[in-house]
Amino acid sequence: MCGFVGLIGVDHASSAAAMALQALQHRGQDACGIGTVHNGRVHVYKELGMVSQVFAGSTLATLPGSAAIGHVRYPTVGAGVRDDTQPFHTRRPGVLMAHNGNVTNVPQLEAWLQRRGIRVQSQCDVEPIMLVFAEGLRGNNVEHVKDAVRDVFEQVKGAYTCAALVEIDGQDTLIAFRDPYGVRPGVYGRSPDGAWCVASESVALDALGFEMVGEIPAGSVMILRPGQPARIEQLRTTETRRCMFERIYFARPDSRMEDGRIFQVRWELGARLGEEWRARGLEADVVVPVPDTSRPAAQAMAETLGLPFREGFIKNRYSGRTFIMPDASARQNALRLKLNPIPEIMEGKRVVLVDDSVVRGTTVRRLAELVRSVKPKEVHLAIFSPPVKNPCFYGIDMPSKDELVAARVPEKDWARTFGVDSVTFLSVEGLRASARTPACMACFDGHYPIPVSPDEAAAIVADRRGGAA
Ligand code: SF4
Repeated sequence: MCGFVGLIGVDHASSAAAMALQALQHRGQDACGIGTVHNGRVHVYKELGMVSQVFAGSTLATLPGSAAIGHVRYPTVGAGVRDDTQPFHTRRPGVLMAHNGNVTNVPQLEAWLQRRGIRVQSQCDVEPIMLVFAEGLRGNNVEHVKDAVRDVFEQVKGAYTCAALVEIDGQDTLIAFRDPYGVRPGVYGRSPDGAWCVASESVALDALGFEMVGEIPAGSVMILRPGQPARIEQLRTTETRRCMFERIYFARPDSRMEDGRIFQVRWELGARLGEEWRARGLEADVVVPVPDTSRPAAQAMAETLGLPFREGFIKNRYSGRTFIMPDASARQNALRLKLNPIPEIMEGKRVVLVDDSVVRGTTVRRLAELVRSVKPKEVHLAIFSPPVKNPCFYGIDMPSKDELVAARVPEKDWARTFGVDSVTFLSVEGLRASARTPACMACFDGHYPIPVSPDEAAAIVADRRGGAA
């Protein structure tokens, strides 16, 4: 999972890109990079680390120009090394590109490129996308760009939303394209003085004071130049399948996507979960969210059930990433450093603990232990998504099936496995009814909108085991 931004017509575009990337930092904290184009020259700086570390001091001054591409990286494939950090660029033709997504047929693309004497040098899958695009770019007008993106749609399988700077008709131009299923998000917006921005989420536009105009249409290429209207060329029509997990967990609650504000989507999922919870005949005294993602859903669930909503944990904003701890008690302490329970909220009560999802099950088990340490009467786990039973091949780091607890452990054993009195997942039907637009729910229902062959699936899982965080 990653985040990208593309800008054109902005003074000090690298500084603006850094601000936008900070707004997208939740999408990737391992590495980041910014590239600019100025007087026909490409300038790129990328490094492992978070935006505020990598672009501290005078680094931004080395990236001149009014057009930029930026990226924050969370590796779902590859070893997470500096060479895999985006953006990537190629000189002839000049293309500077970043993306968010996961290409599922990298070996075939590498073979196709190799037959043309082109070698892929990194493990980052924007490189083959860029090279296929560059190979298809046989000139420098809009028709040539459309042909090159058509080639990408033809050759590149998987989920991807890309932003790039190219020269079209002798002018630096920002382009953006999104795979025909529109699995990964992408929006665009305009500043009052006619500059353009494309980004993974609208919060990047908000940070820059740009007005969101819409989403990058799936199966299209957008051509954006300062002071000119956005040109959208629809190249493929497919029924879109946007990632439902973005809505549940990944995107910021203040982001706006085609189906509305993420906060509102989570609120509705929580209200529906409340109804399903009540239908089971369960009872409780207090609803407690696991911060931060679950807050809107837990509030909505509490309102639906007529129960008090209380913050039962204080989250330590400075604890950073959970370190790899040597033993179970060290890991439990690490969780306590991150989330400290407030005993008065939960002691002696029947607590409904609301969380967004359960993947491996380890975090939820430790959370239940943490709650039990303050002596509640009962602990009921309520999850505002269905059980994750299938891996994701489209850019979210979800492990292979044998690591997914809901696929591994029979349903009758879930409560015991998690150490709680009951477990309620939102039903697949409930999730489907909440989706306002056709969505990918493959990790929940096993229906993959973009076919992935067993060989491709095995290669992705192996890559992930080799290097993903
Ligand atoms: S499989 Fe799940 S995580 Fe992956 S794109 Fe589909 S909904 Fe999103």
